[in-house]
Amino acid sequence: MDFSSQTRDSIAALWDSQIVPQLVDYIKIPNKSPMFDKDWAKHGYMDQAVALMETWAKAQPVKGMTVEVVRLEGRTPLIFIDIPATGSGEDCVLLYGHLDKQPEMTGWSAHLGPWKPVIEGDRLYGRGGADDGYALFGSLAAISALQEHDVPHSRCVVMIEACEESGSYDLPYYVDHLAARIGKPSLVVCLDSGCGNYDQLWLTTSLRGLTGGNLTVKVLDEGVHSGDASGIVASSFRVLRQLLSRLEDEVSGRIKPQELYVEIPAQRREQAQRPAQEL
Ligand SMILES: [Zn+2]
Repeated sequence: MDFSSQTRDSIAALWDSQIVPQLVDYIKIPNKSPMFDKDWAKHGYMDQAVALMETWAKAQPVKGMTVEVVRLEGRTPLIFIDIPATGSGEDCVLLYGHLDKQPEMTGWSAHLGPWKPVIEGDRLYGRGGADDGYALFGSLAAISALQEHDVPHSRCVVMIEACEESGSYDLPYYVDHLAARIGKPSLVVCLDSGCGNYDQLWLTTSLRGLTGGNLTVKVLDEGVHSGDASGIVASSFRVLRQLLSRLEDEVSGRIKPQELYVEIPAQRREQAQRPAQEL
């Protein structure tokens, strides 16, 4: 059997026997990101999720691994794992993931729910298993598989934050705090994206930018009868629509302000075309 089928088999066995049960327990914990649970610290769900992952990580037979929960005052916790190189060289690989979750939202099928893990066929339903609970398990499973098959690897640092769904506002503080211990990674693997199929390895090479704001249109200080005011007072809805149209062409979706454009590198266009062909 070749190396890739061996690792595929050993990871699949670990995944089914150990990791799926962990993810099932993880889904039950309503550890919503701070933006969706202001009292997250008091509720203690985030600590439960951290403890679940910390306990599992510490039990893994990874050579020389240290697992630590770092807690900066007033911030969400972060799991920091350091795995020494089994090969030579000073190189470092950083693996990233997060354990906080999106809120419940609506639209769940009657037999499913955010905090209710349900396995149907080869799918596990519930909030947070794929985004992004699997990241710590996936990282350590991959490194374990390398060690099991005596494949030398660089030093690996795994960082699992708990603030991603709120915009990762705590993460920069941890990166600064841990900078000396992280070192200088030559590769960052961010396990928090999607894939087009399960037939090949997919990498996300770019993401679109995002900006947000609140737009309020106010035309009156108090309500007035439509019979008195319509046609005289400006329509707040039309003002709103015109303001939005300054940003976006409502027919084509084209964004209007030139300031929001950048030169798209030729290779990015190519990278967008390749998956389209593949899929
Ligand atoms: Zn995510």
